[in-house]
Amino acid sequence: MKKHNFYAGPSILPQFTIQQTAEAIIDFAGTGLSVMEISHRSKEFVAVMEEAQALVKELLKVPEGYSVLFLQGGASLQFLMAPYNLLVKKAAYLNTGMWASKAMKEAKMIGEVVEVASSKDANFNYIPKGFSVPDDVDFLHITSNNTIFGTEILTDLDVPVPMLADMSSDILSRPMDVSKYNLIYAGAQKNLGPSGATLIIVKNEALGKTSRPIPTILDYKTHIDNESMFNTPATVSVFGCLLTLRWLKANGGLEAMEKTNIEKAKILYGEIDRNKMFQATVPNKEDRSRMNVTFVLTPEYAQYEKEFDVFAESQGMIGLKGHRSVGGFRASLYNAMPVESVKALVKTMQEFESTK
Ligand SMILES: *Cc1c(COP(=O)(O)O)cnc(C)c1O
Repeated sequence: MKKHNFYAGPSILPQFTIQQTAEAIIDFAGTGLSVMEISHRSKEFVAVMEEAQALVKELLKVPEGYSVLFLQGGASLQFLMAPYNLLVKKAAYLNTGMWASKAMKEAKMIGEVVEVASSKDANFNYIPKGFSVPDDVDFLHITSNNTIFGTEILTDLDVPVPMLADMSSDILSRPMDVSKYNLIYAGAQKNLGPSGATLIIVKNEALGKTSRPIPTILDYKTHIDNESMFNTPATVSVFGCLLTLRWLKANGGLEAMEKTNIEKAKILYGEIDRNKMFQATVPNKEDRSRMNVTFVLTPEYAQYEKEFDVFAESQGMIGLKGHRSVGGFRASLYNAMPVESVKALVKTMQEFESTK
């Protein structure tokens, strides 16, 4: 039976990425060697890194004066590395979930942190609005998509200071205005490639403002000066990212992705709102994530949770279990998720409803 992969991360990748990686695991670029065993300093791998960086710049229309890096340590290391490099005196954080809270915790070890708003009062089921950002902070840090709670900031905010963004789970899902950000970071494993690499887009001018000594490997300048090869990069992961970037470009780029992502989300939220057995955990439609759709059974049908879980899996729906802090279900609809899989999930929900 066909499997439909709704895992939150690591998660679905384009078949193109998987097949081309499989081939390169055996013979990479006609070298007679595996992509797993080739030196990161070889001309073939240097070409991979350079093309991946160039495609990120092209697809996201990154302005001049920014560097693109593929580092390791995940988004979690960026929670520390970002303020280490960019927090001079004071920073503002928008607290929209568990990842945002973790980012804030690390920043507090470095300097003064102001929480401009939080949706913790409602288990992070909405995006705070109308908050003000002090204009004496170095930056506002946001988590653009809340993978766990299913909320998303779908536009680039207008604030009086530069932004830093954890875009781990919605990077490259829509066109965006990179010039509003001093730093964007994203673990590869949600929307980009296999786990291992972390994409960094950093504004060069924003660096070097703090007098705090920065350990060599935590200093973005180290990695910029060494073309993202200060130490061994996660070569296979970066190669997988490159393939996904090529796939994105061949499939119409970010405008096309956004269009399909809107369509997929509309189909699934439409069914959740219609189906008598289910309800979305995010009430405000404008805050609902296009990437991670979180839903639960209505109180009336709550006793069927386990039964739906088993039924969905029997229909080839994989990875639907919600995060333990929200419960219920979560369908992740990243770029690589075809509309057909979303329709198959909707059919499964309708079939289940018809048995009750
Ligand atoms: C998954 C995720 C993280 C954690 O990423 P790691 O690469 O495992 O450190 C951080 N932020 C967001 C928004 C995520 O979705």
